[in-house]
Amino acid sequence: MSFQNPVFIPGPTNIPESLRKSCDMPTIDHRSPLFGGILNAARDGVRQVLKSATAEVFIFPATGTGGWETALTNTLSPGDTVLAARNGMFSHRWIDMCQRLGLTVRVVETPWGQGIPHDQFAEILAADTSHEIKAVLATHNETATGVTSDIAAVRAAMDGSDHPAMLFVDGVSSIGSIDFQFDDWGVDVAVTGSQKGFMLPAGLAIVGFSAKAMAAQPSAQLPRTFFDIRDMADGYAAGAYPYTPAVGLMNGLSHACTMLLSEGLDTVFARHHRIASGVRAAVSAWGLELCAASPDLYSDTVSAIRTPAGFDASRIVSHAATTYGVAFGGGLGEVAGKVFRIGHLGSLTDVMALSGIATAEMCMADHGLDITLGSGVAAAQDVYRAHGAANVQKD
Ligand code: PLP
Repeated sequence: MSFQNPVFIPGPTNIPESLRKSCDMPTIDHRSPLFGGILNAARDGVRQVLKSATAEVFIFPATGTGGWETALTNTLSPGDTVLAARNGMFSHRWIDMCQRLGLTVRVVETPWGQGIPHDQFAEILAADTSHEIKAVLATHNETATGVTSDIAAVRAAMDGSDHPAMLFVDGVSSIGSIDFQFDDWGVDVAVTGSQKGFMLPAGLAIVGFSAKAMAAQPSAQLPRTFFDIRDMADGYAAGAYPYTPAVGLMNGLSHACTMLLSEGLDTVFARHHRIASGVRAAVSAWGLELCAASPDLYSDTVSAIRTPAGFDASRIVSHAATTYGVAFGGGLGEVAGKVFRIGHLGSLTDVMALSGIATAEMCMADHGLDITLGSGVAAAQDVYRAHGAANVQKD
């Protein structure tokens, strides 16, 4: 089997060669000071990527889903109420986890393609005068629909009624690619994984806890063992781990943070925005629409593209894989068969994006869709050249 790069799935993302090498290391004694150095560097790096001065960062050998569970089980008790909007597959899955853990979820059903309805959240929180709601769950970037929600507005909705609930944010497909402001947004738990913005293989659940979330931990009654942050914190105090760490991945994470921070977070976010704008220009040149309902919701990490009614969008994904060796994302849940997704996050450049756009065009033309070959590529080139042309030295 041959592996084709780049991939255009919205995670796992392309792994830069230097990070692949950082993960590929000889065995070390994970109870030696050598490991403490890797652990501390990774935790410090993540804290900076989260834009936090004080977040307690925990790194588990797991994935983003384990991060969700870490957030919930370390802070809440059976029967506690949480507030969440269901606007895509990942918010749905987090709600499902809450329900399976025995939490009560106030679900705000939200059309897929819309963002978190913070106005409705404000009303619900204001009416909750007895403070039944213990946590507000927010999926920053709905990877299924390509929708980025306004977390500052969710925080404002909470502050508007001085509601004391904690704010838990799923940043699995945003952190390290789209601006994320842990401290300024008053996030209590941020959740992500290694395989998206951090450009690593899957295998790490990465979470940041605020002082308030840490303080909720002693009284939280939900059962937890593997994801107990008390055990993790005890290990960290000794520069170690409560069990065997994924040392290579942690070393990769520390290097990934160095890469992101040395490129500069604002430059990283601007690169994602530019690449995404090129993809969006291509989509509009094709005469197609995004699943995201309006420009303020457009995601800079993934575009979910609606194909014409009656056409099964999954045919684009399978054709791209089998014919051109290129991986796009399929539609999930409610939008299965209606959208295909171009992931544009992580280690990606403008010209890499052009190859994905060109492939999507070929796949759609191969299926007889009314697409002018080159139209999307040209539209994206215009976006990318606006940046490139600015760099040309004038005589
Ligand atoms: N949340 C979001 C927004 C995601 O995109 C994903 C995975 O794609 C998850 C959570 C689940 O993460 P994982 O697959 O790493 O468990």
